[in-house]
Amino acid sequence: MPAIIPLAAFSDNYIWAIREGVRAAVVDPGDAAPVRAFLDRERIALSAILVTHHHGDHTGGIVDLLRDRAVPVIGPAREAIPGRTLAVGDGARVEVPGLGLMLDVLDIPGHTAGHVAFVGRDAAWGGPVLFCGDTLFAAGCGRLFEGTADEMWRSLSALAALPDDTRVYCGHEYTLANLRFAAAVEPSNPAVAERAARERAKRDHGLPTLPSTIAEERRTNPFLRAREARVRAVAEAHAGRRLARDADVFAALRDWKNAF
Ligand SMILES: [Zn+2]
Repeated sequence: MPAIIPLAAFSDNYIWAIREGVRAAVVDPGDAAPVRAFLDRERIALSAILVTHHHGDHTGGIVDLLRDRAVPVIGPAREAIPGRTLAVGDGARVEVPGLGLMLDVLDIPGHTAGHVAFVGRDAAWGGPVLFCGDTLFAAGCGRLFEGTADEMWRSLSALAALPDDTRVYCGHEYTLANLRFAAAVEPSNPAVAERAARERAKRDHGLPTLPSTIAEERRTNPFLRAREARVRAVAEAHAGRRLARDADVFAALRDWKNAF
Protein backbone atom coordinates (compact mmCIF):
# COMPACT_ATOMS: atom_id res chain seq x y z
CA MET A 1 0.00 0.00 0.00
CA PRO A 2 1.54 3.35 -1.00
CA ALA A 3 2.04 6.24 1.38
CA ILE A 4 0.34 9.41 0.11
CA ILE A 5 2.17 12.43 1.48
CA PRO A 6 1.27 16.14 1.27
CA LEU A 7 4.08 18.43 0.15
CA ALA A 8 3.09 22.01 0.98
CA ALA A 9 3.76 24.55 -1.78
CA PHE A 10 3.20 28.32 -2.11
CA SER A 11 0.73 29.58 0.51
CA ASP A 12 -1.94 26.87 0.40
CA ASN A 13 -1.20 24.30 -2.37
CA TYR A 14 -0.62 20.61 -1.82
CA ILE A 15 1.55 18.55 -4.14
CA TRP A 16 0.70 14.91 -3.41
CA ALA A 17 3.57 12.41 -3.35
CA ILE A 18 2.60 8.77 -3.89
CA ARG A 19 5.41 6.72 -2.40
CA GLU A 20 5.99 3.01 -2.89
CA GLY A 21 9.33 1.81 -1.50
CA VAL A 22 12.23 3.82 -2.93
CA ARG A 23 10.16 5.59 -5.62
CA ALA A 24 7.49 8.23 -5.67
CA ALA A 25 5.22 9.87 -8.21
CA VAL A 26 3.95 13.40 -7.61
CA VAL A 27 0.61 14.92 -8.47
CA ASP A 28 0.45 18.58 -9.61
CA PRO A 29 4.00 19.81 -8.88
CA GLY A 30 3.48 23.56 -9.07
CA ASP A 31 6.92 24.07 -7.55
CA ALA A 32 9.98 21.81 -7.89
CA ALA A 33 11.64 22.83 -4.61
CA PRO A 34 9.38 20.99 -2.12
CA VAL A 35 9.44 17.88 -4.33
CA ARG A 36 13.22 17.91 -4.54
CA ALA A 37 13.51 18.46 -0.78
CA PHE A 38 11.23 15.48 -0.14
CA LEU A 39 13.11 13.19 -2.54
CA ASP A 40 16.48 14.20 -1.08
CA ARG A 41 15.31 13.83 2.52
CA GLU A 42 13.87 10.37 1.90
CA ARG A 43 16.64 9.34 -0.52
CA ILE A 44 14.14 8.14 -3.09
CA ALA A 45 13.71 8.68 -6.83
CA LEU A 46 10.98 10.42 -8.76
CA SER A 47 9.25 7.92 -11.07
CA ALA A 48 6.44 9.95 -12.67
CA ILE A 49 4.47 13.18 -12.68
CA LEU A 50 0.66 13.29 -12.81
CA VAL A 51 -1.20 16.48 -13.68
CA THR A 52 -4.91 17.29 -13.21
CA HIS A 53 -5.06 20.65 -15.06
CA HIS A 54 -2.90 23.31 -16.67
CA HIS A 55 -2.80 26.07 -14.03
CA GLY A 56 0.69 27.26 -13.17
CA ASP A 57 0.40 26.46 -9.46
CA HIS A 58 -0.08 22.80 -10.50
CA THR A 59 2.43 22.61 -13.38
CA GLY A 60 5.11 25.25 -12.70
CA GLY A 61 7.67 22.77 -11.32
CA ILE A 62 7.48 20.17 -14.08
CA VAL A 63 10.19 21.45 -16.43
CA ASP A 64 12.54 22.03 -13.51
CA LEU A 65 12.00 18.47 -12.18
CA LEU A 66 12.59 16.97 -15.63
CA ARG A 67 16.07 18.55 -15.59
CA ASP A 68 17.11 16.08 -12.86
CA ARG A 69 15.54 13.04 -14.43
CA ALA A 70 13.36 12.45 -17.51
CA VAL A 71 10.24 10.79 -16.09
CA PRO A 72 6.83 10.22 -17.71
CA VAL A 73 4.39 13.13 -17.39
CA ILE A 74 0.74 12.06 -17.53
CA GLY A 75 -1.79 14.84 -18.03
CA PRO A 76 -5.10 15.86 -19.56
CA ALA A 77 -5.34 15.48 -23.33
CA ARG A 78 -7.36 18.65 -23.79
CA GLU A 79 -4.92 21.04 -22.09
CA ALA A 80 -1.35 22.21 -22.75
CA ILE A 81 0.88 20.56 -20.13
CA PRO A 82 4.66 21.17 -20.20
CA GLY A 83 6.68 17.99 -20.77
CA ARG A 84 3.61 15.78 -21.13
CA THR A 85 4.48 12.30 -22.45
CA LEU A 86 1.05 10.67 -22.10
CA ALA A 87 -2.21 12.51 -22.85
CA VAL A 88 -5.22 11.00 -21.05
CA GLY A 89 -8.97 11.54 -20.93
CA ASP A 90 -12.22 9.98 -19.76
CA GLY A 91 -12.13 6.19 -19.51
CA ALA A 92 -8.36 5.83 -19.73
CA ARG A 93 -6.72 3.39 -17.34
CA VAL A 94 -3.06 4.12 -16.69
CA GLU A 95 -0.33 2.52 -14.63
CA VAL A 96 1.62 4.95 -12.46
CA PRO A 97 5.09 4.42 -13.94
CA GLY A 98 7.49 2.75 -11.54
CA LEU A 99 4.91 2.10 -8.83
CA GLY A 100 2.76 -0.68 -10.32
CA LEU A 101 -0.46 1.10 -9.28
CA MET A 102 -3.40 1.63 -11.60
CA LEU A 103 -5.47 4.80 -11.94
CA ASP A 104 -8.66 5.47 -13.88
CA VAL A 105 -9.10 8.86 -15.54
CA LEU A 106 -12.31 10.90 -15.37
CA ASP A 107 -12.99 14.09 -17.31
CA ILE A 108 -14.23 16.67 -14.79
CA PRO A 109 -14.52 20.02 -16.65
CA GLY A 110 -15.65 23.20 -14.91
CA HIS A 111 -12.65 24.76 -13.14
CA THR A 112 -10.75 24.36 -16.43
CA ALA A 113 -12.09 22.98 -19.71
CA GLY A 114 -9.95 19.84 -19.80
CA HIS A 115 -9.52 19.11 -16.08
CA VAL A 116 -9.14 15.40 -15.23
CA ALA A 117 -9.31 13.38 -12.02
CA PHE A 118 -7.35 10.22 -11.21
CA VAL A 119 -9.19 7.47 -9.32
CA GLY A 120 -7.46 4.47 -7.74
CA ARG A 121 -9.83 1.56 -7.14
CA ASP A 122 -7.53 -1.46 -6.91
CA ALA A 123 -6.92 -3.19 -3.58
CA ALA A 124 -3.25 -2.17 -3.85
CA TRP A 125 -4.27 1.39 -2.90
CA GLY A 126 -5.62 0.16 0.46
CA GLY A 127 -9.05 1.69 -0.25
CA PRO A 128 -10.23 3.95 -3.05
CA VAL A 129 -8.43 7.24 -3.65
CA LEU A 130 -9.25 10.35 -5.69
CA PHE A 131 -6.86 13.03 -6.93
CA CYS A 132 -9.15 15.83 -8.08
CA GLY A 133 -7.00 18.97 -8.39
CA ASP A 134 -9.12 22.11 -8.10
CA THR A 135 -12.55 20.63 -8.85
CA LEU A 136 -13.76 19.18 -5.54
CA PHE A 137 -12.24 20.73 -2.41
CA ALA A 138 -12.80 19.74 1.19
CA ALA A 139 -16.19 21.40 1.91
CA GLY A 140 -15.99 23.41 -1.32
CA CYS A 141 -15.28 23.42 -5.04
CA GLY A 142 -13.10 25.27 -7.53
CA ARG A 143 -14.05 28.47 -9.30
CA LEU A 144 -15.49 28.27 -12.80
CA PHE A 145 -12.64 29.74 -14.82
CA GLU A 146 -13.29 27.96 -18.12
CA GLY A 147 -16.38 25.81 -17.73
CA THR A 148 -20.08 26.35 -17.11
CA ALA A 149 -22.01 25.73 -13.92
CA ASP A 150 -23.78 22.82 -15.64
CA GLU A 151 -20.45 21.20 -16.48
CA MET A 152 -19.13 21.67 -12.95
CA TRP A 153 -22.33 20.28 -11.43
CA ARG A 154 -22.03 17.17 -13.61
CA SER A 155 -18.35 16.79 -12.69
CA LEU A 156 -19.02 17.16 -8.96
CA SER A 157 -21.97 14.75 -9.18
CA ALA A 158 -19.69 12.14 -10.79
CA LEU A 159 -17.18 12.54 -7.96
CA ALA A 160 -19.94 12.43 -5.33
CA ALA A 161 -21.01 9.05 -6.77
CA LEU A 162 -17.65 7.46 -5.90
CA PRO A 163 -17.67 5.06 -2.92
CA ASP A 164 -18.20 6.65 0.52
CA ASP A 165 -14.75 5.61 1.75
CA THR A 166 -12.90 7.21 -1.20
CA ARG A 167 -10.11 9.38 0.19
CA VAL A 168 -10.12 12.82 -1.44
CA TYR A 169 -6.75 14.43 -2.23
CA CYS A 170 -7.38 17.92 -3.61
CA GLY A 171 -5.06 20.76 -4.54
CA HIS A 172 -5.49 23.38 -1.81
CA GLU A 173 -5.91 23.86 1.94
CA TYR A 174 -9.12 25.92 1.77
CA THR A 175 -11.12 23.83 4.22
CA LEU A 176 -11.74 26.27 7.09
CA ALA A 177 -12.85 29.10 4.78
CA ASN A 178 -15.05 26.64 2.90
CA LEU A 179 -16.66 25.49 6.14
CA ARG A 180 -17.49 29.10 7.07
CA PHE A 181 -19.48 29.28 3.84
CA ALA A 182 -21.01 25.83 4.46
CA ALA A 183 -22.23 27.09 7.86
CA ALA A 184 -23.84 30.13 6.19
CA VAL A 185 -25.68 27.84 3.76
CA GLU A 186 -26.66 25.22 6.36
CA PRO A 187 -26.56 26.78 9.84
CA SER A 188 -28.62 23.90 11.23
CA ASN A 189 -26.54 21.05 9.75
CA PRO A 190 -24.80 19.58 12.83
CA ALA A 191 -22.27 17.75 10.63
CA VAL A 192 -20.94 21.10 9.35
CA ALA A 193 -20.41 22.51 12.86
CA GLU A 194 -18.85 19.29 14.08
CA ARG A 195 -16.51 19.15 11.10
CA ALA A 196 -15.48 22.79 11.50
CA ALA A 197 -14.38 22.12 15.09
CA ARG A 198 -12.45 19.01 14.05
CA GLU A 199 -10.70 20.66 11.09
CA ARG A 200 -9.83 23.77 13.12
CA ALA A 201 -8.10 21.56 15.68
CA LYS A 202 -5.99 19.99 12.89
CA ARG A 203 -4.94 23.41 11.60
CA ASP A 204 -4.15 24.58 15.15
CA HIS A 205 -1.68 21.69 15.30
CA GLY A 206 -0.22 22.53 11.89
CA LEU A 207 -1.77 19.47 10.26
CA PRO A 208 -3.45 19.30 6.85
CA THR A 209 -7.21 18.78 6.86
CA LEU A 210 -6.78 16.37 3.94
CA PRO A 211 -7.51 13.77 2.81
CA SER A 212 -11.24 14.09 3.19
CA THR A 213 -13.66 11.32 2.20
CA ILE A 214 -16.55 11.31 -0.23
CA ALA A 215 -18.91 10.43 2.65
CA GLU A 216 -17.73 13.51 4.57
CA GLU A 217 -18.17 15.70 1.49
CA ARG A 218 -21.68 14.41 0.91
CA ARG A 219 -22.58 15.30 4.50
CA THR A 220 -21.00 18.76 4.68
CA ASN A 221 -20.04 20.18 1.27
CA PRO A 222 -22.80 22.58 0.17
CA PHE A 223 -21.80 22.23 -3.49
CA LEU A 224 -22.63 18.50 -3.38
CA ARG A 225 -25.89 19.18 -1.54
CA ALA A 226 -27.80 21.27 -4.10
CA ARG A 227 -30.47 18.51 -4.20
CA GLU A 228 -31.34 19.02 -0.53
CA ALA A 229 -34.59 20.94 0.01
CA ARG A 230 -33.04 23.12 2.75
CA VAL A 231 -30.09 24.04 0.54
CA ARG A 232 -32.36 24.86 -2.37
CA ALA A 233 -34.52 27.08 -0.14
CA VAL A 234 -31.58 29.09 1.21
CA ALA A 235 -30.03 29.42 -2.28
CA GLU A 236 -33.36 30.69 -3.64
CA ALA A 237 -33.68 33.16 -0.78
CA HIS A 238 -30.16 34.45 -1.41
CA ALA A 239 -30.61 34.63 -5.21
CA GLY A 240 -34.07 36.16 -4.89
CA ARG A 241 -35.59 33.88 -7.51
CA ARG A 242 -36.87 30.35 -8.10
CA LEU A 243 -34.17 27.88 -9.09
CA ALA A 244 -35.66 25.21 -11.32
CA ARG A 245 -32.88 22.63 -11.58
CA ASP A 246 -30.27 21.24 -9.18
CA ALA A 247 -27.61 22.73 -11.47
CA ASP A 248 -29.23 26.14 -11.01
CA VAL A 249 -29.03 25.74 -7.24
CA PHE A 250 -25.37 24.83 -7.64
CA ALA A 251 -24.78 27.91 -9.85
CA ALA A 252 -26.43 30.19 -7.29
CA LEU A 253 -24.28 28.72 -4.49
CA ARG A 254 -21.13 29.24 -6.59
CA ASP A 255 -22.07 32.90 -7.28
CA TRP A 256 -22.81 33.42 -3.59
CA LYS A 257 -19.46 31.92 -2.56
CA ASN A 258 -17.58 34.11 -5.07
CA ALA A 259 -18.76 37.17 -3.15
CA PHE A 260 -18.72 35.61 0.35
ZN1 LIG B 1 -6.53 25.55 -10.77
